[in-house]
Amino acid sequence: MKVRFHGAVGEVTGSCHEVEAAGQRVLLDCGMIQGSREDERRNRDSFDFEPAQVDAVVLSHAHIDHCGRLPVLVQRGFSGPIYTQRATADLLKVMLEDAARLAEADAERALRRKAQGKGNGDEDELTPLFTMEDVAATLRLLRGLEYDTPTTLFPGVVLTLRDAGHILGSATVELAEQHGDTTRTLVFSGDLGPRGTPILRDAEPVPKADLLLLESTYGGRSHRERSATVTELGEIFRAAWRDGGNVVIPAFAVGRTQELLYWFAKHYDEWGLSRWQIFLDSPMASRVIGVYDRHTDLFDDDAKKVWAGKPHPFKLMNLRLCVDAKESMAINEVDGGAIIIAGSGMCNGGRVRHHLRRLLPHERHHVIFVGYQAQGTLGRRLVDGAAWVRMLGSDVTVRAQRHTVGGLSAHADQPALLDWYASVGGRPNVVLVHGENDAREALKSRLEQSFGVEVDLARAGMEREV
Ligand SMILES: [Zn+2]
Repeated sequence: MKVRFHGAVGEVTGSCHEVEAAGQRVLLDCGMIQGSREDERRNRDSFDFEPAQVDAVVLSHAHIDHCGRLPVLVQRGFSGPIYTQRATADLLKVMLEDAARLAEADAERALRRKAQGKGNGDEDELTPLFTMEDVAATLRLLRGLEYDTPTTLFPGVVLTLRDAGHILGSATVELAEQHGDTTRTLVFSGDLGPRGTPILRDAEPVPKADLLLLESTYGGRSHRERSATVTELGEIFRAAWRDGGNVVIPAFAVGRTQELLYWFAKHYDEWGLSRWQIFLDSPMASRVIGVYDRHTDLFDDDAKKVWAGKPHPFKLMNLRLCVDAKESMAINEVDGGAIIIAGSGMCNGGRVRHHLRRLLPHERHHVIFVGYQAQGTLGRRLVDGAAWVRMLGSDVTVRAQRHTVGGLSAHADQPALLDWYASVGGRPNVVLVHGENDAREALKSRLEQSFGVEVDLARAGMEREV
């Protein structure tokens, strides 16, 4: 078996690795590159392989940086099966349809600007990266699997997905290739959740790997204790109430948003949440809530209890799900006492930008970052303390109070990555993917010190035998 690296090498988006096993070609993830406009333009580049020659895709989870280029792959000739956990298959419809809608709207806007003689005439921007039709064709290829259930992909190649504890349906991927009496096993961690992530079960151990592709998003950091973060959230809400401001929380539609609502339900009285108006200003997050409700059997025991009790995280008395644009715009009338959860999580698109433009110039408002902010994104500039930012065509002064609460991360930190590695049988050598270089270097030296194994950093085009 052989693996070749294409994406999420030295960065955290665009996950894509190619495996050759038993004469077949399998793609692990086909993610979108996210970041600056130049970065995102790379999503239109040709793949480093021929899509029609890929026999199957295995998808680790539904985050767009892992699945977002699947419709492009299909548009360019891929027609094989896409294997993934069944909740991921369900989420994928929401994620890809939303991405297609955005891409189509962006292209229409570019066409209008061109017709008015404005814009920079970039031909690429006039056609969407993919359309709803491409998404429909992609969804037809999905094969939803259960966790812990070996599935034969081709004669001699068996796939097993295990819970990765990162978002609903997230999985670690095990590909085992049989040669007579021996089996060689490649394991891809996908994205791993930290232990004790609310709602989800913890990442499962993996019995055996001969080579491990390991994510390293937070390979160089330790998160704060989740309990400290939860206390901090309560304090921010109290301070924001005293300041008479609004609170904006840029959040990913999948995972973080549901976790926040879970914490809101758990600390509803303690945080004085009944006096706030809470807006979930994300049609996509609202649809994802429906998916979570359809897969409660995948929840951990604590979440099953919370879902059975009151208040129900998705049905808080003062929670409003803003689906159409009019409801979103109505939030502009609220000048204090509103908690606004809106996407995108890194502020590089979506409704959160409109709220930020209005609220950033005023000190009484608060912005809480609860997720990873990749280089080149507006979120990263805000987290790094920018005094002003350029957004939606204007310069915006930043006086709002900014908080970064790292402890809610959906990614395992360095100690958790090392713990999970220790749970993988066979002490495999490791190739680090899905991390910026500082994080990968830090994790590499810890893995080498603690386990005495060989650790490489994936580079584009690099190949490894398994
Ligand atoms: Zn992810």
